Amino acid sequence: MSVLDSYRLKSSGRFMVRWRVALLVALLSLGATLFVSYLTWRNQVDGHHRQVQERVTQLTIDISERLKDYEIALEMARGLFMASDEVTADEWRNFSTSERFFKNIPGTHGFAYVDHVKAEELDDYVRVIRTQYDPDFGVFDTTLYEPISYDDYCVIRYNEPMSRNANTIGLNVASIPASHETMRRSVLYDRVTFSEGFSLHQTGAAKVGVVLYLPLFQHNADTRTVESRLESVSGWVAMSVEMSAFMAGIWPEDWEGVSGVLVQRTSESVDRLLYRHPTQDQSTGGTKDTRGGAVYQASMPVEDWQWVLLVHEAHPNTQIAWSHVFLVGGVSSVISLLLVLLVWSLTRTRDRAYKLADELTLSLRESEQRYALAVHGSNDGLWDWDLATGRVYYAPRWKELLGVPEEEDIYTPEAWFTRISSGCLARFHAKLTDHIHGKSERFDLELEMHHADGSTRWMLCRAAAVRDQHGKAVRISGSLADISDLKQAQDELRALAQHDQLTGLANRTLFTDRLNHAIARAKRNSSYQYAVLFLDFDGFKVINDSLGHSLGDKLLSEMAERIRTCVREVDTVARFGGDEFVVLMDGIHSADDVQILSQRLLDRLAVPFKCETSEVISTVSIGVVVGTENYENADEVIRDADAAMYQAKAGGRAQYCLFDLKMHTQAVRRMRLEQDLRQCSFDEQFRVYYQPIVNLESGTTAGFEALLRWDHPEHGRIEPEEFIGIAEESGLIVSLGEWVLRESCKQMAAWRARFNDVLKMSINVNLSRRQMLSAEIFDVIDRVLEETGLPAQVLKLEVTESAVMDNPQSIVSVMQRIHELGVRLAMDDFGTGHSSLSCLHQFPIDQLKIDRSFIENMQEHREFAAVMDAIVSLAHFLHLEVVAEGIENAEQLSQLQAMDCQYAQGFFFAKPMAASAVTDYLTGFKEDATEAA
Ligand code: C2E
Ligand code: CA
Ligand code: CA
Repeated sequence: MSVLDSYRLKSSGRFMVRWRVALLVALLSLGATLFVSYLTWRNQVDGHHRQVQERVTQLTIDISERLKDYEIALEMARGLFMASDEVTADEWRNFSTSERFFKNIPGTHGFAYVDHVKAEELDDYVRVIRTQYDPDFGVFDTTLYEPISYDDYCVIRYNEPMSRNANTIGLNVASIPASHETMRRSVLYDRVTFSEGFSLHQTGAAKVGVVLYLPLFQHNADTRTVESRLESVSGWVAMSVEMSAFMAGIWPEDWEGVSGVLVQRTSESVDRLLYRHPTQDQSTGGTKDTRGGAVYQASMPVEDWQWVLLVHEAHPNTQIAWSHVFLVGGVSSVISLLLVLLVWSLTRTRDRAYKLADELTLSLRESEQRYALAVHGSNDGLWDWDLATGRVYYAPRWKELLGVPEEEDIYTPEAWFTRISSGCLARFHAKLTDHIHGKSERFDLELEMHHADGSTRWMLCRAAAVRDQHGKAVRISGSLADISDLKQAQDELRALAQHDQLTGLANRTLFTDRLNHAIARAKRNSSYQYAVLFLDFDGFKVINDSLGHSLGDKLLSEMAERIRTCVREVDTVARFGGDEFVVLMDGIHSADDVQILSQRLLDRLAVPFKCETSEVISTVSIGVVVGTENYENADEVIRDADAAMYQAKAGGRAQYCLFDLKMHTQAVRRMRLEQDLRQCSFDEQFRVYYQPIVNLESGTTAGFEALLRWDHPEHGRIEPEEFIGIAEESGLIVSLGEWVLRESCKQMAAWRARFNDVLKMSINVNLSRRQMLSAEIFDVIDRVLEETGLPAQVLKLEVTESAVMDNPQSIVSVMQRIHELGVRLAMDDFGTGHSSLSCLHQFPIDQLKIDRSFIENMQEHREFAAVMDAIVSLAHFLHLEVVAEGIENAEQLSQLQAMDCQYAQGFFFAKPMAASAVTDYLTGFKEDATEAA
């Protein structure tokens, strides 16, 4: 073998070896390329699944958010009912059909008010509505379902918009199985409850919906226990949600290639179909799709159920970007080629090649994710924060939302944080840190942010972290959405529910809330003080009745305006309904501040109100409480201010009165006396005293007035000034008054049988307003006269002028009927009420008793004497007897005689005395009379 041959052999051997190595490397590279391509494909598939799954989860979040808006709307509606005694159909319409309102809660099919009516009250209920509001009104059960049995009726009164809900007015929802249960639950838990999905009545079973209920309770009812809630529930506000309309705004329009269902899953794992997409194949039931492809699922708790969203994607692979796979495959092949060359020349290791390929794959994956996010982007401003590098990618829309020019290059987290308003910053950081550390599933926060134009906007910020296999967050992606409009609408609704519609002032709810804050603040900070002023207009009812309600409303608005101009910016003025106003002075330096304001209010409100043709004068009485740390809640403060206001009224109206400890003691005593009054035996503790009424011409006794005395076993003698008020307020005056009437008639009959002179006398008995308005009053009078045998004309019943004027129409008709019994009537305390001399002739009375205050002032003030003179003359003209009350001295007597006043009563002649003393008096009187004769 030649040298050449050997070289040839060697070189061909080496060549063969190199080729073998190269072939081996090439084969390995090919394997690596295939492997990397497979990984890329797998990654694509996983990424796509994750993306769709995220989208499905996002959808359930959107649904939850929307349901929360509904709950807010119901709470607002409840606020509306709490704020006023009655919500009229018009008010309901205005409230629930305002464009703002419906814009924010799309999908609402009906917004209803449901009345709670006991079975035995149903007929009355229907009658009242028919006569007062709607002659066609009727109550009916459902015809769509097998009705279930029920105790009480739950009747739809209003359901807006009427254009599509008119056929539900009068529907007794208690007959619908799904509703019945839901309403009961709402009362048990006192919260918004959701019905199961069922065919909505108004759509004639064509559409599936759910109904949300929130209970309403009687005003002032105690709602802390289930029993008391069941007892006091007065109705519901309800919202029917038609599911396909509801989902229309949520399901992304541009989402192709998928179908889905939303089902309600009960605890027994029964699925009820709420919605199907696309809507066309609504007919097929069932929830799980088994036609192949990929199924995604996300669920959310809705009350006691799970709402489960199932999405089916028939051809998930069409979503895969094959170009990426090919690109990676291509890149990998090139790398393999390079590797072969490298191995060929530099004998690099295969491991290196794999590493390079891995690195390439990784960076590819990163840009892919960003790309996916951008595609996902809709109206929201997207951002993506790489936690490793600290760089944040802000999408153009993100910049647009905050007025940042698109070309401005921002990439730090600070660029974002500095735009968050300081009030939200702490919370933002806390929530974000929690989320990064895996303490929360997702990040969701409303932020107030600074726009480049200087304004602030409300943004909803949502985000989710992407974690590595150890659960450590490596990046966070999220979106920013402008929710300023929604916020504003919510604020407006909230304001609506917290204000009095007539005057625009705060209502009781808002006032109570502010007062509770003040109470809490006073407890924390001893240098802070507050005060509450309770205003009530004197005799407003009379003005309102005589002016008519629309002028009355105008007057109230004018009053509200005046009050508003008297107080400081920080103070809260509220109207509690009727003519009751309250002021919260938020932060005062001393009690002087309060007195100055009270006086200013008295002065400002005493200026006559101009109304159309005439001027109205109305004064106000004010009760004042200066807050102390002893108050625990708003109700206590308001109660005391109210008590002080009553004190101001009792003290002669048009004044203010500061609540003090004495009043507290009085309030407690009042409460105890009321209890005692309820339990005691009248025969044992009460006495009737009699005070003579004297004929001034003849000097003889014309009759007696019966006056009640209470000999309390503990407190001794209690004057009527104290207990009559308590008896009136508690209604006990009706039985007590009957007792006085019987007692004094019996006594009078006994005296008549014994003394001849008494035959010409009459007996005056006081009747309170409550007695006059009680249904049995005629029977009582009739029965007492019959039992005692007293002739009707001997009895004179005294009714105070203010009782008559409080309620002129009904009291006058009662007076007329009493007159028909033959009993005579006196108008008591004349001059203290609001009647004028000119309308005296309208009342069926026989006697006028001029109030003591006139007689008292007659000597000092000539104008009182002049008025007295006028009253006496007019009474003569109307053939009324005139009695002057409270004669205490001889001068008064001679002055009255000069005026030709016929009768008088007073300590000057005799004090009220027990029956036994009257017997002595009558004997003496008789002796006197015989002596005089
Ligand atoms: P009234 O009906 O105006 O009764 C007259 C009051 O004036 C009585 O007070 C009487 O004691 C008092 N009086 C009489 N003469 C004089 C006088 O010369 N000087 C002064 N300073 N006072 C005089 P009394 O008995 O304390 O009753 C107070 C009020 O309580 C009564 O005012 C009446 O409104 C009410 N009242 C008393 N008994 C009854 C009753 O049986 N039923 C009802 N509904 N009210 C009653
Ligand atoms: Ca009287
Ligand atoms: Ca009187």
